[in-house]
Amino acid sequence: MELWSIAIIGGGPGGLMTAYQLQKRAGRPCDITIYEAGARLGGKILTPRFSTAPVAYEAGAAELYDYSRVGDDPLRELIAELGLSTHPMDGDTVVMDGAKLTTDDDLLAYLGAAGWDALEAFDRRAKDWMSPVEYYEADWKEGVPDAMALAAFRDVLAEIPDAGARRYIETLVHSDLATEPGRTNAYYGLQNYLMNDPDYMGLYTIDGGIERLPEELAKRLEATVLLEQAVVRVERAEGDLLRVVSRCGGELESDEFDFVVAALPHNWLLGVKWGGELLRGAMERHHAHYDHPAHYLRVSVLFASAFWRGRIDGSFFMLDAFGGCCVYDESSRNGDDSHGVLGWLLGGEAAVTLSNLADAELIRLALESLPESLKFGAAEFVEGRVHRWCGSVNGMPGGVPALDPEVRHQPEPSEHPNLFVVGDYLFDSTLNGVLDSADFVAEWIVEEMEDDAP
Ligand SMILES: Cc1cc2nc3c(=O)[nH]c(=O)nc-3n(C[C@H](O)[C@H](O)[C@H](O)COP(=O)(O)OP(=O)(O)OC[C@H]3O[C@@H](n4cnc5c(N)ncnc54)[C@H](O)[C@@H]3O)c2cc1C
Repeated sequence: MELWSIAIIGGGPGGLMTAYQLQKRAGRPCDITIYEAGARLGGKILTPRFSTAPVAYEAGAAELYDYSRVGDDPLRELIAELGLSTHPMDGDTVVMDGAKLTTDDDLLAYLGAAGWDALEAFDRRAKDWMSPVEYYEADWKEGVPDAMALAAFRDVLAEIPDAGARRYIETLVHSDLATEPGRTNAYYGLQNYLMNDPDYMGLYTIDGGIERLPEELAKRLEATVLLEQAVVRVERAEGDLLRVVSRCGGELESDEFDFVVAALPHNWLLGVKWGGELLRGAMERHHAHYDHPAHYLRVSVLFASAFWRGRIDGSFFMLDAFGGCCVYDESSRNGDDSHGVLGWLLGGEAAVTLSNLADAELIRLALESLPESLKFGAAEFVEGRVHRWCGSVNGMPGGVPALDPEVRHQPEPSEHPNLFVVGDYLFDSTLNGVLDSADFVAEWIVEEMEDDAP
C-alpha cells in the first residue's frame, strides 16, 4: 500500500506533537520525516545539568499552564497519556525595593491606601474585561480587533493613578510578556496579568524536568528523524507534491512529499527559502502579521544550599531588577536537596541588551540583584550557566486582527494547499498554544488523507 508522505520541519515540541498526533489519528501508517537543524530534539524545552554537580534546571520553558478547571486541557491530557507525573507550582511573592510582598497586608503597607485602591481598581477592570471562560476561548477567536487589541499596554498602565501600583503590575507581568508594555497591546498585557490568578489557570511542572515531554513523544514516534539536517528551501514540485531541500553535512538533499508542515517558531520562518513568487509572498505576509519579537535571557546558578528557604517560599518569585524578572527556585522541582538552584528569567529589552555581555558578567549581575535579605547567599555560589533566547518568543501572539484558524495555518491555499505551519505564535506563545496548533493541523491533514486516499 502506498503511504502518505509528510515532512515536518523542526524537531521542537511543535514538530514532535504534530508527528505524534498524526500517527495517532491517521487510520493507517504514514511516512513521516522530521527535519531538525540541531543535534537534539526538543527545541526550547531544555533541562540540562550543571557540570560541577549533576543537578538539573530548566534552561528554556519552565512552567506549564493548567486550564482543566475551566475546560478541556489537551496538554494535561497528553502529559498523562505519556505517563508523566507532574506537580503544581506557585509563586505569590513580588520583591520591590527589597521588600517582600506576599500578602495583602504586605501590599497595603508597601503601596499605602491610594496605591492599594489603584491596584484593586486595575484588578477589577481586568477581570470585568475577561472572565476565565472568555480567556480560555480567546485564542481561537477571529475577527475585528476590540479596543484592547488596538491599544498599547503601556497606555492602559499609564491610566493607573498611583506610580507604586503601576510599577508593581509592570514587575509582575514583565517576564511573562518578554517585551515592553509599549511593544504589545493591552489585550495581551491584561491576559498576562490575569494569568497570575488561579481562577484563570494553574501552573505546574513535569517531575524529572520538562524535557521529559519531548523525550517521551520522540520514543513513541515511528518517524524518520534527521538531526543536523536543516531545511533550506521548500517549493512546489510536479503534480501536487512539495519539494523539501535540506542541508546534510556540506551536501544538499532533495525529497518530495504529499504534505509539509513547517513547525518553526516565527523567528526561524524566513530562514527557509520559500520557492516561487506566490509562496514567497504569502510566507512574507504570514511572517509580517506576527512580527512582534520578544526576548528571554536565562541565568541559572548552582549554590551550595537553598539558602533562601524560609525567607522566600514558593516555586518562584518576581523581582524588580532588570525591568522585572522572575526568579525560579529550580531546586523546588529537581528532586535534589544536595544543592540549591536559582534561575533568573529576564525578558524584553533587558534580555536583548544584556545578551551582549559575557556569561561571567551576567552571572555577577544576577547575584548582585539578590534582595538585601538574601545577599549573603552569593557566598554559596558554585557554578553559573547562561542561555540566550533573543527573538525566540512572540510579544503579541495571534497577531492583530486575529485570523481564522484555517487561514493562520495555511499561508498559501491556492497552489500550496498541502503546506501548513504550526507555531505557538499563532495562539499564545506557550506550549499549550503550540499543542493546539499541532492538533489543528494534524486533524486537518488526516481529513485530507481520508478524503483523498492514494
Ligand atoms: C526562555 C524561555 C522560556 C519559556 N517559558 C515557557 C513556559 O514557561 N511555558 C510555556 O508554555 N512556554 C514557554 N516558552 C515557549 C516555549 O518554549 C515554546 O512555546 C515552544 O518551544 C515552541 O515550540 P516550537 O516547536 O514551535 O519551537 P522550538 O521549541 O523553537 O523548536 C523549533 C525547532 O526547529 C528547529 N529548526 C529551526 N529552523 C530549522 C530548519 N530550517 N530546519 C529544520 N529545523 C529547524 C530548531 O532547531 C528547533 O529545534 C518559553 C520559551 C523560552 C525561550
